[in-house]
Amino acid sequence: ATPTAIMVGTGVGASQGVLIKGGQALETAHKVNCIVFDKTGTLTIGKPVVVNTRLLQNMVLRDFYKLVAAAEVNSEHPLAKAIIEYAKKFREEENQVWPEVRGFVSVTGHGVKATVQNKQITVGNRSLMLECNIHIPVVAEEILEEAELMAQTGILVAVDELIVGVIAISDPIKPGAEEVVSILKSMKIESIIVTGDNWGTANSIGKEVGIKTIIAEAKPDQKAEKVKQLQSMGMIVAMVGDGINDSPALVAADVGMAIGAEKSFSRIRLNYIWALGYNLLGIPIAAGALFPSTGFR
Ligand code: ADP
Ligand code: MG
Repeated sequence: ATPTAIMVGTGVGASQGVLIKGGQALETAHKVNCIVFDKTGTLTIGKPVVVNTRLLQNMVLRDFYKLVAAAEVNSEHPLAKAIIEYAKKFREEENQVWPEVRGFVSVTGHGVKATVQNKQITVGNRSLMLECNIHIPVVAEEILEEAELMAQTGILVAVDELIVGVIAISDPIKPGAEEVVSILKSMKIESIIVTGDNWGTANSIGKEVGIKTIIAEAKPDQKAEKVKQLQSMGMIVAMVGDGINDSPALVAADVGMAIGAEKSFSRIRLNYIWALGYNLLGIPIAAGALFPSTGFR
């Protein structure tokens, strides 16, 4: 691209609320033939909500949520925020006071552990329970799989060594995500999902948006590894993420696109087309990824 084209591209980008860091990103973007999407906050809205709770022991919902909320209150994770939001309902209705928490530990990509009312509370996915030597009963596994088939994330809750309940959390797909994927397909650009979430949920989301290649249960460094692996196969890779848990992958990619979770795909869709070489002026410059982004490398 000519310096003029880059200037125009950067200028239009800016007017769309997109920050483009350097002409190199613009130069590379039109060569991209593979786009790796983070799931949570990128393909999905990123504002998960609790949609179902299943208790497996003789326990009432308000006591269950008191313990879970106490364990999650120090977590920054969007899933923790969904749980807290839900638990607040009980706190307000019943003038609850959430108990004190000791020994809070956040296990990246797996969940949290804490001591509440002298009990060890473990909240997270299958791997976390495995790590903590907590047996997952068949009925809990069935509830998890049921949730995952509906593209929800199932969260296991254990009190000491016993699984006491499963929380189903839903994070809806962004409107227009499916359309973006089909446009990319028609442009012969491959789409891939790389997520820290489990295989079941990731596959269901993939089905809904039309992406077949999926890598699930990936830690942040594994997301970056996947990007590098694609590059070593000769792909020019763009990574689209929300910057939570995917910063290493955004950096490793040929083009990293950080998008705000709150941005809708209808806007992003336009920007995609733009990004990949069809700018508003109809000049096929090596346009950068014109996402309404919070950062762009
Ligand atoms: P993503 O790549 O989709 O953003 P993460 O890597 O952040 O996902 O998390 C992966 C999985 O770990 C989640 O789907 C969830 O099962 C579990 N997890 C992570 N943090 C928490 C938490 N604070 N509470 C419960 N579960 C959690
Ligand atoms: Mg994420």
